[in-house]
Amino acid sequence: MLSKESRASLTCKETIAVLSDYLEALCGPDVVERLEAHLRDCAPCRAYLATFRRTRELTRTVGRVEMPPEMKARLRQFLMKQLRTTTNEGAGSPDTV
Ligand SMILES: [Zn+2]
Repeated sequence: MLSKESRASLTCKETIAVLSDYLEALCGPDVVERLEAHLRDCAPCRAYLATFRRTRELTRTVGRVEMPPEMKARLRQFLMKQLRTTTNEGAGSPDTV
């Protein structure tokens, strides 16, 4: 399962955990590097980041509003759904390239 931890990039969970810090430039350069390495390989996390970023910009336009926890939870659910879809793709199908 996840016993082999990669030091090169973050996991999806870690990416989600540090994403708001990343956008606020609160992460250390090593974290940023590993996060960006993960984003290169992970389309769902890129989609998550895009949604997260857009939401932040919207809330910033409206005013200096903190992203509500409910919004964060919904974004997280969105990503988990994406991940599950990706994982289920081709499951049990013999003609996977
Ligand atoms: Zn990911």
